[in-house]
Amino acid sequence: MAKHRSSRRGTGRRAQLIGLTAALAAAAGTTAVGVSSSAIGSSGPSTGTGLSPSQASALTAARIDRRDLGSRDASRIDLDLAATRKARADLVAKQRAAKLAATATQTQRRALALSAAKAAAAKKAAVQARALAAAKAAEIEKAKSAPKIVLPTTGYHLTARFNQAGGRWAHNHTGLDFAAPMGTPVRSVMAGEVIQADFEGAYGRQVKVRHADGTVTSYSHMSEFDVSVGDTVEAGTQVGAIGMTGNTTGPHVHFEVLPDGGSPINPEPWLQDHGLNP
Ligand SMILES: [Zn+2]
Repeated sequence: MAKHRSSRRGTGRRAQLIGLTAALAAAAGTTAVGVSSSAIGSSGPSTGTGLSPSQASALTAARIDRRDLGSRDASRIDLDLAATRKARADLVAKQRAAKLAATATQTQRRALALSAAKAAAAKKAAVQARALAAAKAAEIEKAKSAPKIVLPTTGYHLTARFNQAGGRWAHNHTGLDFAAPMGTPVRSVMAGEVIQADFEGAYGRQVKVRHADGTVTSYSHMSEFDVSVGDTVEAGTQVGAIGMTGNTTGPHVHFEVLPDGGSPINPEPWLQDHGLNP
């Protein structure tokens, strides 16, 4: 009994020491349980806690395992959360990329459509330019084949010649009279520029055209004006119409030719010089 008692006492002291060591270890943050268990293991069959050293050790190990498992599980949850977040981020990124790709495709399609439209417009413009060039060429050909000079009117008969004396004129006749029905078109005999379109006393409605060589032709007694000063005319362009304005007894056009805009000359030889025989 005494031996047992002393053994108990000894164990009691040792347990106090173990308790102190455990407290120190706990304060130091180390595995106090492990230290005490190894101390207990070397002290004998009884520990005073009701557990054998091996049982205590197993319990401790199990606790450590549980704690580790717990933390591993927590880690796994964290990992799972991270994975989910990453998956979500990846999905959003993929969706963004898909949207960008769709936009890019649309932009590309639009660009293609635009360039196609541009090409079509360019083609159309080229066709139009060719047509315009052809029309211009045709116009030039027509101008080449068109007469350079025409008579001042059509369906006429001459009623008064140049230098003819008569009661109607203060001086001898200064032009050539082409009588025709009222309203018959009166035409510029050659291309040129209109320098007069106005009433001119005894001449009535008068138009004067200056031609390239400086010669001026004059058309008088007309019923209307079909051009204005500054207009460009071709050979045959209507400048007015047969009328009876000014000093006249019947509908006709009084036609004059004035070299360099000076004194009138006999229109008949001038017209004949240009290939016309009125
Ligand atoms: Zn006359």
